[in-house]
Amino acid sequence: MLIVPERDIADLMTRHAAYDAVEKVFAAMASADAYNFPVIREAIGHEDALYGFKGGFDRAGMTLGLKAGGYWPNNLEKHGIINHQSTVFLFDPDTGRAVAMVGGNLLTALRTAAASSVSIRHLARDDAKVIGMVGAGHQATFQLRAALEQRRFEKVIGWNFHPEMLPNLKAVADEAGLPFEAVELDGLRAADVLISITSSFEAILKPEHVKPGTHIACMGTDTKGKQEVDPRLLAQATVFTDEVAQSISIGEAQHAIAQGLIGESDIAQIGAVVNGDHPGRRSAEEITLFDGTGVGLQDLAVASAVVDLAVEKGVAIEVDF
Ligand code: NAD
Repeated sequence: MLIVPERDIADLMTRHAAYDAVEKVFAAMASADAYNFPVIREAIGHEDALYGFKGGFDRAGMTLGLKAGGYWPNNLEKHGIINHQSTVFLFDPDTGRAVAMVGGNLLTALRTAAASSVSIRHLARDDAKVIGMVGAGHQATFQLRAALEQRRFEKVIGWNFHPEMLPNLKAVADEAGLPFEAVELDGLRAADVLISITSSFEAILKPEHVKPGTHIACMGTDTKGKQEVDPRLLAQATVFTDEVAQSISIGEAQHAIAQGLIGESDIAQIGAVVNGDHPGRRSAEEITLFDGTGVGLQDLAVASAVVDLAVEKGVAIEVDF
């Protein structure tokens, strides 16, 4: 069995490798070569922790396994480690033997950023110039860095519920040599691409904040009750997702579905666009919206890629198991 510890992930994994792995597995999901198992998420009644498993099997990539982990709110204060903790376990689909254990913390951020990037590459207008961020926390910086590689963006704008966090976005814009402007919600109308990545439980983005032709990647809503976008926007937009079952139950679409504004059949898998089975954007005026809920197969795909890189570079730790 191979071990790739969390401390080695940053040196091994690249945004490009994460992008390729996630795009490929989205395509496999849409052609029914890969499927996700039902998600388990439990409040374990200890340390206020939420713990769970996300798993799946990708027959195309021959990747089987799960990500185990969750959220321990007291970690930082009590132990000086981050509150989100996860580990990916990969198994041999031919025998069921465990083949790898991989640190999942950084990989989660990279695979989530790769997901919105896949949607931007396939759905945003080619001439997109301004990218707008809603959210400025840990994930937002990963999202922005990856998204900037998808189009020739000329400007970054951003809004955040906690404005004091906006310098996080400016730092990424600076890195890329792009101007950054903090805006009010109305100012987001200047964006050609919008990414929302917050822990909000109320709609932030309303139809009046989004101009025609915009692509919106909604990445924060991954649990029942969370919400970043007014359901009217989903009714207006052409809606795509990683996995429809998650989109309608724990994703942004849960609210539009509950209000009867859209139906399940109105939501397309992004992998179908990757495969060429769905045309994607049909006009320059259309609003496209990606509901990125986060699936286990994304975790397995990037973990499998990092194991290959670790073996290639001779840094994977081998143990008898
Ligand atoms: P973080 O704690 O670093 O940042 C939280 C962000 O949400 C900040 O921008 C903060 O200002 C904002 N926020 C907090 N309370 C808010 C409120 N009441 N209204 C509006 N905004 C508010 O968290 P993070 O690690 O950046 O994660 C952001 C979100 O992304 C979380 O909800 C997380 O569950 C989700 N997430 C989704 C995926 C996925 O695959 N879709 C993967 C990882 C994380």
